[in-house]
Amino acid sequence: MSNHVPSTRGQCVEADASDPLGAFRDRFQLPEGVIYLDGNSLGALPKNTLARVGRTITDEWGLGLIRSWNDASWFTKPTDVGDRIAPLVGAASGEVVVADSTSASLFQVLVSALRMRPDRSVVVSERDNFPTDLYMIQGTQELLAGADRDLDRRLIHDDGPSLDEVLADDVSAVVLTHVNYRTGRMYDMAAVAEKVHAAGALVIWDLCHSVGAVPVDLNAADADFAIGCTYKYLNGGPGSPSFLWVPARHQDAARPALTGWQGHAKPFDFTVDYEPAPGITRFRVGTPQLLSLAGLEASLDVWADVDMQAVRTKSLALTDLFIALVETRLAAYDLEIVTPRDHDRRGSQVSLRIDGGYQIMQALIARGVIGDFRAPDLMRFGFTPLYLGYADVWDAVSVLEEILTSGVWQDERFARRGAVS
Ligand SMILES: *Cc1c(COP(=O)(O)O)cnc(C)c1O
Repeated sequence: MSNHVPSTRGQCVEADASDPLGAFRDRFQLPEGVIYLDGNSLGALPKNTLARVGRTITDEWGLGLIRSWNDASWFTKPTDVGDRIAPLVGAASGEVVVADSTSASLFQVLVSALRMRPDRSVVVSERDNFPTDLYMIQGTQELLAGADRDLDRRLIHDDGPSLDEVLADDVSAVVLTHVNYRTGRMYDMAAVAEKVHAAGALVIWDLCHSVGAVPVDLNAADADFAIGCTYKYLNGGPGSPSFLWVPARHQDAARPALTGWQGHAKPFDFTVDYEPAPGITRFRVGTPQLLSLAGLEASLDVWADVDMQAVRTKSLALTDLFIALVETRLAAYDLEIVTPRDHDRRGSQVSLRIDGGYQIMQALIARGVIGDFRAPDLMRFGFTPLYLGYADVWDAVSVLEEILTSGVWQDERFARRGAVS
């Protein structure tokens, strides 16, 4: 597809027919009648996942039993799978481990960064960051207050203060999410690192909405630490573990918060004293989630064949198309496109602000167009180029138009709230 944005459904169908990523659609299992615009929250199911997880259960567990720790390489899975994620984020082999949840991994790297800057007392983050990042910083503050190291949390915001305003020689670490989960706005990682390093601090990136969504080059961007989910754009499956990146240059200095036995230098010596393993392995804690890791391995088989630049090109084309259709066909409605138009600042989602957004999203879901809603007022649509086409985008906007025109979304059944939005 060129820069040309399709302006008819026929042109969308043509764009799908000549899409270099078109063949990937068949590697995913999606229900009939659904246009899935929530792969940024929970990625779709790759067709090979069931057999891969099944093999781990029946063969590796059922037949291999305890022998599989060696015979099926269970013990090294966290770093083996980490090495397969590495190319997607510009990491080198031996720099990524897959374990635990993103929240726990953030604690691991935050404490490492704080230990590398022992004379500094401020952690910078962003008011609009994903809440778990903010909460993990607060929990770390509470912990360290008990250990007589008072920590301040300084939050930047689009309305001020800016990063430049808060950076100073008391800042130890800056914790930012590369692509904002609400707005889809993306940071320039290299530019941020330059500022943070000029202030003598370390930068920690949350890549939950970046990995598999946009090309990322952590080493080229001179980042210090990174963490991210594997169940969103990477399609690892519900609850698949997070990844954690520490560049080779920091690995000797970095001491993780959680000193579990599987991060020990010699776990099977069963010694009394902790000694960190060399390299990224020290960031392991306990026994890995092997069934979840098997699901992630299946999806990484798909990603191994993917060119991230092609994903980016199509992601921008899909989001450009969605924005153009919302602007032209829904001009009569009071919709605000919150996501930046500027390609350099856009991730792989588009968020719309509108009164009644929660109910409108429920009405969309009832019609098979699945996105989600983020309080207080955003409808969020994720674009996953491996299993979403141009005609899907066209059809999704058509359904949204019908819902707005008919006013059906005002029906009270769409106002009911579930536990998860
Ligand atoms: C989804 C998401 C998380 C999730 O953290 P978990 O510990 O995996 O639940 C964290 N950070 C960001 C920015 C996210 O979007």
